[in-house]
Amino acid sequence: MTARVLDGKAIALQIRHEVQLEVAKVIEATGKAPCLAAVLVGDDPASQVYVRNKEMACHKAGIGSQLFRLPAETTTEQLLSLVEQLNNDPSVHGILVQLPLPKHIDERRVLDCVAPHKDVDAFAPENVGLMSQGRPRYLPCTPHGVMQLLHREGIETAGKEVVVIGRSDIVGKPLVSMLLQKSGPCGESNANATVTCVHSRTPNLSEVTCRADILIVAIGKANFVTAGMVKPGAVVIDVGINRSGDSIVGDVDYHAVKEVASAITPVPGGVGPLTIAMLLRNTLEAFRVAQLKMTT
Ligand code: NAD
Repeated sequence: MTARVLDGKAIALQIRHEVQLEVAKVIEATGKAPCLAAVLVGDDPASQVYVRNKEMACHKAGIGSQLFRLPAETTTEQLLSLVEQLNNDPSVHGILVQLPLPKHIDERRVLDCVAPHKDVDAFAPENVGLMSQGRPRYLPCTPHGVMQLLHREGIETAGKEVVVIGRSDIVGKPLVSMLLQKSGPCGESNANATVTCVHSRTPNLSEVTCRADILIVAIGKANFVTAGMVKPGAVVIDVGINRSGDSIVGDVDYHAVKEVASAITPVPGGVGPLTIAMLLRNTLEAFRVAQLKMTT
């Protein structure tokens, strides 16, 4: 069997187009545009690229963007003060603090300081809590991208055995939470899974992964998932982004697993492009939340 390749790039473009149309409508209705403020501390080359891509994507969607570049020596207090300023700025609807922050900065304190209604990454405890109760304000971008990809590729999760490898707060845990809900971002068929999460302390990992109808991998280890870890006919979603020389590879041994799976995401061009698309969608949503706050 050779797997169908799931085209995340095309789906991301489709979602970005949908957002662009909706942004044009809200601008016409309100005379104002949604605006995303990005905060970049230090000069990590990968972060610079991510932030630039996010700015360009905002521009194409008609969303305003502001970039705040701070030197690597910035203190936690200085960063908190900027975040507070953005929290209180009515022209800013979404705030994104680019991770990773330099080691000396208290990342938890900074992320906790972002006003929940401007938290377009959906990392704030209030937004995590709302999501886990099945009434999300915003959904975290990468896991939401995975759910959209599955839905738009016609892959239902309801009643399926889904195994998530990785338990990070950014990808693994929120995915588990979304898959478990009675209704997902795209309805009931895009939720209601039987979910198992495995991680670095799980013994006999392959025994569990081989049960998966849908295997989602987010660990940050190049080519970690081999063909022997996948049930024949499974859908394999690779969230990993690992640098290998000048190129990027996923957490899945793509060429070997492609011969076993029924569908697979490539890296690059799979989950990656969806993250920015979902960030744009959250920024539009944050604008709507702000408009509602003004009228109530
Ligand atoms: P993380 O380092 O925060 O978490 C990794 C998780 O993998 C941990 O929970 C750990 O228990 C698990 N793990 C590590 N080694 C393991 C092993 N040998 N066996 C089983 N589990 C193991 O990483 P993260 O932020 O969740 O990111 C994971 C990957 O996804 C990275 O490659 C990252 O670059 C990528 N990522 C991609 C996007 C995107 O836009 N596509 C967004 C976020 C993260």
